[in-house]
Amino acid sequence: MADFSAAAGIRSHEHKHLDGRVLAQRILDESIAAVGDLKSSGWATKIVSVTIGAVPAVDLYVRNQRRAADKTGILFEERRFPSDISEAEALAAIGAMNVDPSVTGIIVQRPVPDRLSIKFLQSAIHPLKDIEGMHPTSIGNIVYRELELAPCTALAAVELLRATGLDLRGLEVVIVGHSEIVGKPIAFLLMAEGATVTVCHHMTRNLSVHSRQADAVFVAVGKPGLLTGAMIKPGAAVIDVGINQIAGADGTAKTVGDADYPSCAEVAGWITPVPGGVGPVTVAILMRNAVVASRRQRDHYRRTFAAANS
Ligand code: NAD
Repeated sequence: MADFSAAAGIRSHEHKHLDGRVLAQRILDESIAAVGDLKSSGWATKIVSVTIGAVPAVDLYVRNQRRAADKTGILFEERRFPSDISEAEALAAIGAMNVDPSVTGIIVQRPVPDRLSIKFLQSAIHPLKDIEGMHPTSIGNIVYRELELAPCTALAAVELLRATGLDLRGLEVVIVGHSEIVGKPIAFLLMAEGATVTVCHHMTRNLSVHSRQADAVFVAVGKPGLLTGAMIKPGAAVIDVGINQIAGADGTAKTVGDADYPSCAEVAGWITPVPGGVGPVTVAILMRNAVVASRRQRDHYRRTFAAANS
């Protein structure tokens, strides 16, 4: 029998809707305390956000991140670079942040111009400052069940499932989408928790055959309405990572996920809304990762200093 207690605080009156904003606030509250502890030990936490070129969507992400950092007591600095910056210049800028002890976390906002490789830039960030959890070292660590600095969106999606109170051990989970940033890390995080994981993607022959078996379905594809109520088991949890802009009935742009909310909500036991589900939790997890990174650096400097003085 499922334990609903953990979800109680983040379920809305509809009883199914898992409210990401409530969970995000809970994570931010924990981070406020942790940032305060670090500060009282003489260690400030500071994120530097790197934006390359001008993309309006990126400005929105950065505003949300700055707001969360302000709430949490984390310093936040935005560095903007022109879209024609060379790869060598971008690497030099990140290299300078790596060796600046006042910078404890670095995030490269995506997208970057096509000429530059986001993976290459993320790999240039020192793993101790990789708050987005996208450095190959961070990705490798989750394979070894070191989960603290995992990719933010994947962690956020898993935290929402955890908030249902379902026991993750042995849970049958289907993940739709196998990208490096979302689907694959969710699979590793859930395997580390003992879930039985099936990963589906664009070459999966019959998605419904898999999704109908699952106690929980994660959908991270970028196709509005891909997952319908007919494709899920009654009572299953649906965690919708998708963010899509469509034209609403009145012609104005509307943000929706990858799940068809009305039909899925009829059948599901829990469902995350879009907007207001995975998105706000992702920003809160970025702050939590910033705290983890900051603490690790403080401890690293302390150990190095102690060794030098012994
Ligand atoms: P991606 O394009 O890198 O990967 C898409 C995945 O979907 C691939 O694995 C592909 O095989 C699979 N796919 C495509 N068509 C399919 C189909 N018909 N059936 C099953 N699988 C199919 O996308 P991404 O970067 O992982 O992003 C996925 C979605 O999540 C997008 O809507 C994106 O905007 C959103 N997103 C949200 C957040 C957040 O914070 N909430 C963060 C990152 C991405």
